[in-house]
Amino acid sequence: PVRVRFAPSPTGPLHIGGVRTALFNYLFAKKHNGTFYLRIEDTDQNRFVPGAEAYIFEALEWLGIAPDETVGKNEKFGPYRQSERKPLYKQYADQLIQSGWAYYAFDTAEALDQHRKEHEAQGKTFIYNWHNREKLDTSLVLSKEETEQRIASGEAYVIRFKTPVNEILELHDIIRGDLKFDTNLLDDKVLFKSDGMPTYHLANIVDDHLMETSHVIRGEEWLPSLPLHHLLYKAFGWEAPEFAHLPLILKPVGNGKLSKRDGDKLGFPVFPLNWTDPATGEVSSGYREKGFFPEAVVNFLALLGWNDGTDQEIFNLDELCQKFDLGRVHKSGAKFDPEKNKWFNHHYLQVQSDSSLAASFEFELKEKGIQTAIDLTRIVGMIKERAHFVTEFWELADYFFVAPTTYDEKAAKNWKEDTPSLLNQAYEVMCQVQPFESVAIENELKTWMNANEIGMGKIMQPLRLSLVGALKGPHLFDIIEILGPKEVGQRIQNAIN
Ligand code: GLU
Repeated sequence: PVRVRFAPSPTGPLHIGGVRTALFNYLFAKKHNGTFYLRIEDTDQNRFVPGAEAYIFEALEWLGIAPDETVGKNEKFGPYRQSERKPLYKQYADQLIQSGWAYYAFDTAEALDQHRKEHEAQGKTFIYNWHNREKLDTSLVLSKEETEQRIASGEAYVIRFKTPVNEILELHDIIRGDLKFDTNLLDDKVLFKSDGMPTYHLANIVDDHLMETSHVIRGEEWLPSLPLHHLLYKAFGWEAPEFAHLPLILKPVGNGKLSKRDGDKLGFPVFPLNWTDPATGEVSSGYREKGFFPEAVVNFLALLGWNDGTDQEIFNLDELCQKFDLGRVHKSGAKFDPEKNKWFNHHYLQVQSDSSLAASFEFELKEKGIQTAIDLTRIVGMIKERAHFVTEFWELADYFFVAPTTYDEKAAKNWKEDTPSLLNQAYEVMCQVQPFESVAIENELKTWMNANEIGMGKIMQPLRLSLVGALKGPHLFDIIEILGPKEVGQRIQNAIN
């Protein structure tokens, strides 16, 4: 059975790339009637950030892609927080020591730094592996006796993986196809740290195995870890899951990976929800608070590196669950396009019911201290086509609630000497209309203009300017009907004076 996981480290807010990884795992699970679980990888205690874990759960919940199993939910293979699994990992590290796949190392941070610098000075990359060390200086490779002695005397140690020498690993990735790795270029990575905690590599493999993970779907930045992970499965004698590494998400302009900073620089969010940095108090904005619909975010994320082979761009979550195919995920990076994201939100705004949009608008109006008897559902229906976000409604419709106090200068140039008198007359004509309704008002006014040979422009533009303050907005007679005769009269008088 398909069991996939999202395994974030709670080191800060979930970045949009992480959300895409979660989404692709979710879609793959649903497509194959499998399980999507979430494991918190919090073994690196130095990088722990309070609030980050709760943020991850809230974000996935908001997007509608919550895991089937996780902390506090269907804990079939729990605990789902690695810090709570701590006692488990040591035995696996010991197992690798026993079988000769790992060894103790006592290097101090200073010594390692020194090695690294010496290599750099010679233009070489420092690769830490036992083979390498043997070549450099046999005394660096410790005997069993000395190892035991140093441990017994309480010296701090780490456990490192003993990478095999002179092997070319031929591995497979669902997205990238066949890949080759030379083991001589691999570091002997630390599996177990001096603080008694496993590293990411050990904990990740042990848990993926114990939690019966069938496929590992994760970002491309983990591809360099693939050979080590493969070797770890081999060392334990476990069957490895299948792997799929998702393409990078690239900056909208220029080259390189989309970073957390790009969001602030270009004024669009790269986080699902607002995030307040607990250390600095700095707020990074999120899609939710910017007024994005979760459906829009899911839709545009799904297309970052995937399509269904047609030109279709609009997919709801159910459809994505049916159509998603890991084999169709691209190898090359996917450009993040803020304008396109807005386009998706525009689409999802149009398909919301006017009454639900009106409810959101009403909420915003209340925040501005505006109470109104105006039918907001009708207003929303008139303006939504021009909006990408509910937050734009106010700008598009403010004149319904507050009379203009300034008038667009360019449009005011068409204001002629006879305009006041014509507007007064037009107003009188309007007031005859009972009931005061858009179509009837329009007919009456046009009949009057025709009969008196008054050009359309002479009335319509100044009238709109008086009521709206600019030459914008929906059908003028709809505006007149909604404002009602009293308000229309007042605004005309304001404009004239
Ligand atoms: N904890 C890793 C991360 O933060 C998980 C990587 C993986 O999926 O193996 O992304």
